Amino acid sequence: MRFTNLTRGAGIGSNCYRLDLENESVILDCGMHPEHAGHAATPLLEEIGEDSILTTILTHAHQDHVGCLPLLHARQPGMPVLMTQGTARIADIMLHNSVNVMTRQQEELKLTDYPLFTHRAIEMASRNWRHCPLDRPLTLHGERASEGAGAPTVTFHDAGHILGSAGVMIRAEGKKFFYTGDVNFEDQTIQTGARFPEEPVDVLLMETTRGNAPLPEGFTRAKEEKRFAAAVAAALEEGVSITIPVFALGKTQEVMALLWKMERERIIPPIPLYVGGLSSKITAVYDTMADRVPRNLPKLRLMNDVAPYVAGGKDVNSLNPRKRAIYALSSGMMTEYTLSNIFARKVLPDPTQYLFFVGYADPNSPAGHVRNAEPGSLVSLSASAPEIPFNCHREVFTFSAHARREDLLTYAVKVRPKTVLLVHGDDPAIDWFRRELYSALPETKVIAPPPGQPIEL
Ligand SMILES: [Zn+2]
Repeated sequence: MRFTNLTRGAGIGSNCYRLDLENESVILDCGMHPEHAGHAATPLLEEIGEDSILTTILTHAHQDHVGCLPLLHARQPGMPVLMTQGTARIADIMLHNSVNVMTRQQEELKLTDYPLFTHRAIEMASRNWRHCPLDRPLTLHGERASEGAGAPTVTFHDAGHILGSAGVMIRAEGKKFFYTGDVNFEDQTIQTGARFPEEPVDVLLMETTRGNAPLPEGFTRAKEEKRFAAAVAAALEEGVSITIPVFALGKTQEVMALLWKMERERIIPPIPLYVGGLSSKITAVYDTMADRVPRNLPKLRLMNDVAPYVAGGKDVNSLNPRKRAIYALSSGMMTEYTLSNIFARKVLPDPTQYLFFVGYADPNSPAGHVRNAEPGSLVSLSASAPEIPFNCHREVFTFSAHARREDLLTYAVKVRPKTVLLVHGDDPAIDWFRRELYSALPETKVIAPPPGQPIEL
């Protein structure tokens, strides 16, 4: 068994890994870096030989795990791609949206190699997608594995991160290799916590997003929900609007469900909610799959029961914050050209407006700049536009879709891996896990795999 990290740079950016087995090779995720453009945003696909026999396994449909899949397909046209049904439904929407975004960027930024792939390429690639059930061993071609056959198998396990998300167990050569993908062990408003296998494994490939995010003493999600509800109620009492930058996939639906619960419990009055076009398409998938996936509130139909206003990309320029309304606009990192970035230009300078952060933001992203800005200072939302005065109210809440670091550590100790591969985290996050694992599992080899360098397992 040989493992290679195929992400182009270290850090939290994107995910793509290669696992070489005796007779076949597996690619785990094939993401696009959300903060880079063009070639720099892609994984090290040039390291994959044209003649390799490959299967690709996707853990979930966030752009940093799925965004470059059509590029991989172009190199390996017959390659099966294994994922849950929820991931397949959403990945299709995310990838087509990505072509539209890249086409716009081609015009605005004069990027000659954009779009990196076309709508047609996605259609071609999706013919080889296999919908995989949870908790059932499958062959690397996505068929039910027969017991005792000895061939490599893969099993998907609910990861509790977003709709369709899974960790994957690969059994091959008498070894067990488990990849967490992005995981959350705790219940969110919609998503129920991960149900991961707890048997010992040989190799654990683990995300480390929150390794540098200690929680305050006594923090609980329930208390954080109360703090959020009180802040929303207070802002609405003042008659102002609240802007919440959210990821279109996952965070939008969690925020919608949370607001719905707060309204039902009469903590806040019924309030107009605005979401973006991509968010509404993904929310519709959450609704149609509500009975078929592990989740809370299975009867809630967000598009009907919350009935948000949908603001398309063209509307956002003319959209102005109205009184007593909530704008849950993507993206969560307020990336340039997204709805939340454009809308924030109207919100930031206005001292009566409220801006609430509810999840992760890269410190180098526009959302990261605003989160760390001194009140009254100038902040940069775009490299190509002037800085903007930051005068609005700002509140930061912790509703992460990623596991708290202590929960990941507890999981690692439970499965007693011989080797842990630490990925998908900034340096301080990886360092925290490295230190804690050294003392909790002194026999375990702990590696932060450098990009492009094969590691024999
Ligand atoms: Zn994710």
